[in-house]
Amino acid sequence: MPRSTDRLPFPYRPEAETVAQRLAALQGALDWAGAAQVAAPWVRAVRENPPPFWAMESLLKEYPISSAEGLALMRLAEALLRVPDAETAIALTADQLGRADFDGAADSTLARLSSTAIAMSKHFLPESGHEPGLMAKLGARTVVAATLRAVQLLGRQFVLGQTIGEGMKEAAAARKKQPNLQFSYDMLGEGARTHSDALRYQASYENAIAAIAQGADPARHPAQNDGISIKLSALHPRYEDAQHERVMNELVPRVWTLCRAAAAANLNLTIDAEEVDRLELSLDVFEALAALVAEHCPQWQGLGLAMQAYQTRAVELIGHIAALARRYRIRFMCRLVKGAYWDAEIKRAQEQGLPAYPVFTHKHHTDVSYLACAKALLDAPDAIFPQFATHNAGTIAAILQMASRQIGAEGFTAGPPQGETRPLEGQRPAQRWSVGVPSFELQRLHGMGEGIYREVLKNPLVSCRVYAPVGAHRDLLAYLVRRLLENGANSSFVHQLADESVGMDELLISPLRLEPQASLPLPPDLYGAVRANSSGRDLTVIAWRDELLAAHAACVVPVVGEAQPGDATAAVARAVGAFGAWNHTPVAQRAAVLRFAADSLDAALPRFCALLVKEAHKTWGDAVSEVREAVDFLRYYANEAERVMAPQTLPGPTGESNTLRLEGRGAWVCISPWNFPMAIFMGQVAAALATGNTVLAKPAEQTPAVALEAVKLLHTAGVPADALQLLHGPGETVGAALVAAPGVAGVVFTGSTQVAKIIQRALAAKEGTIVPLIAETGGINAMLVDSTALPEQVADAVVQSAFRSAGQRCSALRLLCVHEAIADGVIEMIQGAAKELVAGDPSQLDTDLGPVIDVEAFDNIQRHVNRLRGSAKALLPDAAPAHPLPNLVAPQMFEVGSISEVTQEIFGPVLQVVRWGGDPLDVIRQINTLGYGLTLGIQTRIDSRALALAAAARVGNVYVNRNMIGAVVGVQPFGGEGLSGTGPKAGGPNYLLRFCAEQTLTINTTAAGGNVALFAR
Ligand SMILES: Cc1cc2nc3c(=O)[nH]c(=O)nc-3n(C[C@H](O)[C@H](O)[C@H](O)COP(=O)(O)OP(=O)(O)OC[C@H]3O[C@@H](n4cnc5c(N)ncnc54)[C@H](O)[C@@H]3O)c2cc1C
Repeated sequence: MPRSTDRLPFPYRPEAETVAQRLAALQGALDWAGAAQVAAPWVRAVRENPPPFWAMESLLKEYPISSAEGLALMRLAEALLRVPDAETAIALTADQLGRADFDGAADSTLARLSSTAIAMSKHFLPESGHEPGLMAKLGARTVVAATLRAVQLLGRQFVLGQTIGEGMKEAAAARKKQPNLQFSYDMLGEGARTHSDALRYQASYENAIAAIAQGADPARHPAQNDGISIKLSALHPRYEDAQHERVMNELVPRVWTLCRAAAAANLNLTIDAEEVDRLELSLDVFEALAALVAEHCPQWQGLGLAMQAYQTRAVELIGHIAALARRYRIRFMCRLVKGAYWDAEIKRAQEQGLPAYPVFTHKHHTDVSYLACAKALLDAPDAIFPQFATHNAGTIAAILQMASRQIGAEGFTAGPPQGETRPLEGQRPAQRWSVGVPSFELQRLHGMGEGIYREVLKNPLVSCRVYAPVGAHRDLLAYLVRRLLENGANSSFVHQLADESVGMDELLISPLRLEPQASLPLPPDLYGAVRANSSGRDLTVIAWRDELLAAHAACVVPVVGEAQPGDATAAVARAVGAFGAWNHTPVAQRAAVLRFAADSLDAALPRFCALLVKEAHKTWGDAVSEVREAVDFLRYYANEAERVMAPQTLPGPTGESNTLRLEGRGAWVCISPWNFPMAIFMGQVAAALATGNTVLAKPAEQTPAVALEAVKLLHTAGVPADALQLLHGPGETVGAALVAAPGVAGVVFTGSTQVAKIIQRALAAKEGTIVPLIAETGGINAMLVDSTALPEQVADAVVQSAFRSAGQRCSALRLLCVHEAIADGVIEMIQGAAKELVAGDPSQLDTDLGPVIDVEAFDNIQRHVNRLRGSAKALLPDAAPAHPLPNLVAPQMFEVGSISEVTQEIFGPVLQVVRWGGDPLDVIRQINTLGYGLTLGIQTRIDSRALALAAAARVGNVYVNRNMIGAVVGVQPFGGEGLSGTGPKAGGPNYLLRFCAEQTLTINTTAAGGNVALFAR
């Protein structure tokens, strides 16, 4: 199927503009004051008579999620249920409860129970970070069991049953009390990381559909039967836009199998809405399914899609889906939600440097969008059966009002299932579909909004479906955390409803108003007014992808002439000659040149990315990150130079002035590697230039073209030709000659430890001035995983850190140390995830690993792999990727017996794994003895443990509960210690100082006569 480019607008557009359009669409369609009047009695009734299962709301009222207690609660709930061993469970509980005060009493039985258990736990548990004595341990075990129970009870509020059978029994019991309820079952779990995960979820969905079908009546409309909600990310381990072809070939048939079974029983099967950058992909899948439905079962009206109103494109999405239904002459069920991943969307947009957020940033803007979407859904009854999922009383009342205006009260159910119809105020005659079938339905999550719905459903014309998660406790966690966040957020309706201090006016305030500015700084302004964030690209946006591919098609890698070793002396002399003028150029002027270069590079991102893909075999994602890093370096060092080079007045005795000022040292040799031919090259050069030094830049032999283009860009921006010279050639000859040449004031080098030492010795052997060296070298970077870690998060972090960029990053993960209690499962998940990676041509968007840089690198990696095959247990097959491109290495993974066996950095996608037990500090001590000290990953939910391990580790960069690559300029200054480098850290506040000479200027101000200043006091 051709990829559509015009069905949805650009996601990152100005918020106010979009909201203004939504408000205009609602004009005259909604009387908010009227809706609030309908909602107010519901709110009063719930507050006067809260539903019995009020645990989460009241607990979170007592301990707001923004407080230490709320956070502790959330973290315990997320991690405690999966911890396999008692010791760690005790440590985790002590750690979380140690930082919170749970002594307050909440006001419902369950909340009080949970609260008391937790408060009690606190007193019995050992203090976090301290080894418990035996007595404390015995007490602690009981207390942890109680806490566990409390957390399980919290979890149970949101899960209908541990199996589909159990869930259906609960549903039947609920229906006895409230007959107009339907259910949509959801099988809990994290997204699939491996092929076998996906098959397991597929089987569990199939099994659930079969069970639901037994209780369904195929003669009824899907709106009258229970149904199922599915997550596409559970059904494919690479449900990503970049893997489009695979997803269409492999995932669509899987989902179609489920659809066929649902269609046979006339069930509603809804595809849940996930992250924004999966929307286009999900639409392709949905359209493929629509075509199949049209062909095989056009009478089925149960295929459904969830849509998120917080997305700036939500209304257009509805237009597209309605058009699709009409094109295929079928009808869909569309669930309108506000959206569950708001915080994650905001973070992604900031990290990727996107021009705006793809979601609204004011809560009430999401509400406005929701209402505009509701209107759009109600306007398309021929194409869509609307399903409004919300717990917000104001939103529900507004929908009922719009629905009754649109289709009339009786139209709510075109022939009520039983009893009399009772029209709502101001309703028009009904538009009938078929007897007993409602025209729309409301939806809520199990365990949420029960009170409000108890009131709303007193009107028998209104239908409601409950989204009902089913699954074992260990699968509950991700879902539970979302619910905790939703219940705990100050802005959330359910939270405010539980808080009596929020008055009715505030609770039901009209959302129909426009905020001209976003509530958060936009991603380009992340670093404030002083420094613009570099602009990135979301590779799922087709226009951006096309721009990159066009640049690639036009890219010709220039041939760069080689310098001769004999050129070095003259080049250094030229640089020394240029030093005075450049050094005396005011720092503000030098900074302006670098900022101009940054803006030019930002604008030329596609061209430079294309060059990186062609010359350095970068994948597109890596190329975009690298150009952005170079832009960040230019801007950051421009600012830093102005900061550190401003003269400082120092205190001293009266009668003299004392000033400290910094200036350049002279001509610097900058030797950069091929793995970041743009970012590291630009970082070194920009740091030297910003501080007034002149530069002899020696790029890696493998990547001179990127360096040439970077130098051209800097010259065009205003760096004098003599102040920046490029000398391309082998390190052993040209690099060595530059280092040895007389007059060199400093050397900055990134590369292997071995070459750094050669340079160090060469400098030490030189006559004359003592020349400083800044060296950033590699590392045997480790990740320590304890048994509180989330396996899925670990697998993601490991696969990215060890295999992304084909492992050719100084920061890459080389040694995974995983706790023995969870090692089997974690290793299996990493194996499965690694097998899903695509090694191939980096210019293809679906490629995860391009070839390693050259045949020498390839042979070296192979040597290590062969050695490991003889001495360690291979965890991945050694089959070379089936691809005509040379130098491709598939991810490799070996289990070794001990940390001390890992003695060398293997600069490729090769991971070594070791199991550990006992004290995690011992593991860190063993890692320290390896002598390297660059990056360390820690995966644990025990915060005090993470801090203690980080403090014990002799490394430069520690990353907790995330991947350990991709340091950001000014955010994670980068560089290590020991065999990993000299420091100071690149992209940090201390870096430029090393490029500077310092001078103090002391002036005797009384020299001209008396001390006037003293007399004048
Ligand atoms: C049946 C059902 C199915 C669901 N399926 C999905 C699904 O497939 N995918 C999915 O993502 N979610 C899904 N959800 C979750 C849903 O997104 C949340 O429950 C919903 O957003 C809560 O909205 P509300 O109207 O109940 O509460 P409200 O309190 O009125 O709204 C809360 C929502 O407002 C939005 N919001 C909060 N702060 C801001 C802000 N500063 N700026 C802008 N917007 C903000 C968020 O979306 C937040 O969830 C589903 C919910 C239900 C009931």
